Formats: sequence, C-alpha cells, structure tokens
Amino acid sequence: MNNSTINTTRRQVIKTLGSVGAVSSLSACSDISSILNKNYERPHSRTPFYAPRIARNKIVRVIVGLRPYRPSGFVVKREEYDKKNIIHNYGHGGGGISLSWGSSALAVHQTAGLPINRAAVIGSGIMGLTTARLLQDAGWEVTIYTRDISRHSVSNVGAGQWAPTSVFEEGVASKAFEQQYKYASRISHHAYQNLSGANYGIRFLENYYLGNKEIKESYYLRELPELFSSVADLQPHEHPFPVDFVKRTVTMIIEPATFLRRVRDDFLLTGGHFKIRNFTNLDDILSLQENTIFNCTGLGSKALFKDDELTPVKGQLVFIPPDPAIDYLTVGGGSDVTYMFPRAGEILLGGSNQKDDWSRNPEAEVTERIIEDNKNIFDNLRV
Ligand SMILES: Cc1cc2nc3c(=O)[nH]c(=O)nc-3n(C[C@H](O)[C@H](O)[C@H](O)COP(=O)(O)OP(=O)(O)OC[C@H]3O[C@@H](n4cnc5c(N)ncnc54)[C@H](O)[C@@H]3O)c2cc1C
Repeated sequence: MNNSTINTTRRQVIKTLGSVGAVSSLSACSDISSILNKNYERPHSRTPFYAPRIARNKIVRVIVGLRPYRPSGFVVKREEYDKKNIIHNYGHGGGGISLSWGSSALAVHQTAGLPINRAAVIGSGIMGLTTARLLQDAGWEVTIYTRDISRHSVSNVGAGQWAPTSVFEEGVASKAFEQQYKYASRISHHAYQNLSGANYGIRFLENYYLGNKEIKESYYLRELPELFSSVADLQPHEHPFPVDFVKRTVTMIIEPATFLRRVRDDFLLTGGHFKIRNFTNLDDILSLQENTIFNCTGLGSKALFKDDELTPVKGQLVFIPPDPAIDYLTVGGGSDVTYMFPRAGEILLGGSNQKDDWSRNPEAEVTERIIEDNKNIFDNLRV
C-alpha cells in the first residue's frame, strides 16, 4: 500500500464510520489505526507509528553534558597508597548509563582481601551511586563525597538508551579491556532488567537506526547480540521512515532523572550518607578518614589523577513536551548525530558529539541543526 492509497483509505474509512455515527467510539479509532498501519509489523508495540510534532516554538529546554571519554576504555583498578586503597571506576564515555551496574560490580570486586568496614565513594553520578549501593549490599558502611548532587551530574544529562556505545575505540583498546567491557555490559543489562518498570524509569522500547547508506553494525550488536531482541534489517515497505536503510532492535531506555533519584533513595534508606565536598588533588582525597576510597568522578579524574587520555565529548540535547503516542526511538537519519527518545515527561531530541570541547554552553546553531534533522525525518514519516 503506498502513501496515496493509505490516505484514500483513511478518508474512506472516516467517511463510512462517520455516516454510521461511529467515529467517536474508541473501537472505531483502533479499527482505523489497524487498517492504516497493517503493513508495518511491530515486534513490541501494538499501536501504529505516530510522528512526534517537532517545532522550534515547542522547545522547553536545551542542555549540554560532557561525556568522560578514553579511547582505550574505562578504568577499573585498585591503587595502594600506604594504608589506603583507591579503587577507580571512571571514563565510560557515551555508555556509562548502560555500563553502570556492571562496571561498579567490577570495582567492588577489587575490594577482595580488604576488611569490610567503611568506604568512601567520591562522586554521585551513576557510577558513584551504583558503586555505593553494591558496597552496601556487600556489607559496607558508605559515605558519598561529591562536588555536585546527582541532579547536576553528567549522568542526569545522559539520553539513557541501553546501548554501551562510544565507550572506546576499536583497535586502540586492548583485548583484555574488551573482555572487561563485555562482562560489565552483561552484568549491567541483567541488573537493569531486574529493575524494569516505571518505579526506576526503565522500559523496553523499539529502536530504529536510520541511514541513507548501509548501517554499519555497531560493536555492541556484533559482540553482544544476546542482549538485543527483534534485531532485523527492514525493507522499505516494512517501516515508515524516509531513509534507505533501517535496522531495528528492542532494548531498554533508562530515564536518568527517575533512576538516579530512586537509587539515591535506596542508598539513603540503607543507611548511606552524603557529604558535599570538592577535592582538589590526591592529598586531599587521601586525607579522608576511610581507608577504602572509590573514585567515581568521571571527567573529574583528569585533573585529580592526571589522566591525560581522558577527554570530554560534548553532547547537546533539545527537549519538547511529551507525547504519549510516541512509543519507539530513532537514532540516525540526519546530517550529523541525530536521535529522538520519548520519555514520560518530555521528548528528547539529540544530539552532538563534540570532542575536546569543554564548554557547557548550548550552541544555537547545534539546536537549529538538531531540530531541522529531526523535522526532516518526522515531517516525512510514511503514516
Ligand atoms: C548528551 C549525552 C547523552 C548520553 N547518552 C547516553 C546513553 O544513551 N546511554 C548511556 O549508556 N550513556 C549515555 N551517556 C553517557 C553517560 O551519561 C556517562 O557515561 C555517565 O553519566 C558517566 O557517569 P559518571 O558517574 O562516571 O560521571 P558523572 O555523572 O559526571 O559523575 C561524576 C561525579 O563526580 C563528582 N566529581 C567530579 N569531580 C569531583 C571533585 N573534584 N570532587 C568531588 N566530586 C567530584 C561530580 O560532582 C559528579 O557527582 C550520555 C552522555 C551525554 C552527555
């Protein structure tokens, strides 16, 4: 069925239903939907595709976050300083939300052989909070020391697709790192599934990768296929997107604001404490009373631990009001980094990957490009 046939069918159906006085009934609406969309089979959702209505005058906020990126991958290791141990857990690039529980589990494993008593966690982003919770479950008494509360961390900016992407550069990272990455991905995926639901802001969603040339299979889809369901390359008649290539997967989306608040509450309910503190150097950190200290400072590790490899990758996001009808997300299909993620309270439009850019200021031309790229996709959706 082509576009004009669909539109003719829509008019015929509405006319017929109108003449029998049935247009206002709910069942009539779903009948119309199923007639109009029967050619787009969906693995997860039972509703038709709808297009988010994107317009410049709908923008409610624009935000920026700096991803803590290291080409050779994130750091989980223990360093001894006299009587103190510092265990690092930082540098997760564009995949820290996805990797959090798994990377933090690896960090907590580093305590093997140490007496379980009091631990300090520096940082209250997603790595700090998940490390703190896992330590509590293992019997530690934990205090989180942090410059910013979770709401003001990079983690609260993250888009939240469960896809450990842009975490390292293939060929630069070692094979040992790749094993660590896969282990962390699997553990984390399992942990998120156990928490799935509105309470923690986690749900499964159809993901559509869009491209005007063949879509290169990402490392995580190639190496961790068991973590993604309903994976398929779709033919043009199988999807409504105005591009030549579409790949589909189903994975989780994690809403950081809900998730971070909930894990913070779990931490407090389990007896954890917060202290606001900005550390300026290693001696400052070693002056803490706790002998076991976790470094979960993300990009802060560059200055604190002189990690020259750590670099910011600036990402900008644009938000418009929510639309409960949108039950899928898209990645790609624009002139630069482009994505659309529906959330309970807003629609997120992305994005950008600006390497080595330390500015936290949103840029008007990036906003304009994000809106334009997403409009081009959704104004031309074949529905
Ligand atoms: C635009 C954007 C989109 C993204 N999308 C996704 C996605 O879809 N999926 C995904 O998995 N990931 C995504 N990410 C990546 C993810 O958000 C990060 O990898 C992750 O948030 C890093 O978490 P973190 O806890 O290590 O760092 P942060 O969240 O930065 O937390 C660091 C903490 O350390 C504290 N700190 C730092 N320095 C000091 C100091 N000197 N003294 C005291 N405290 C200090 C900070 O105050 C903060 O509390 C995205 C990121 C961005 C920016």
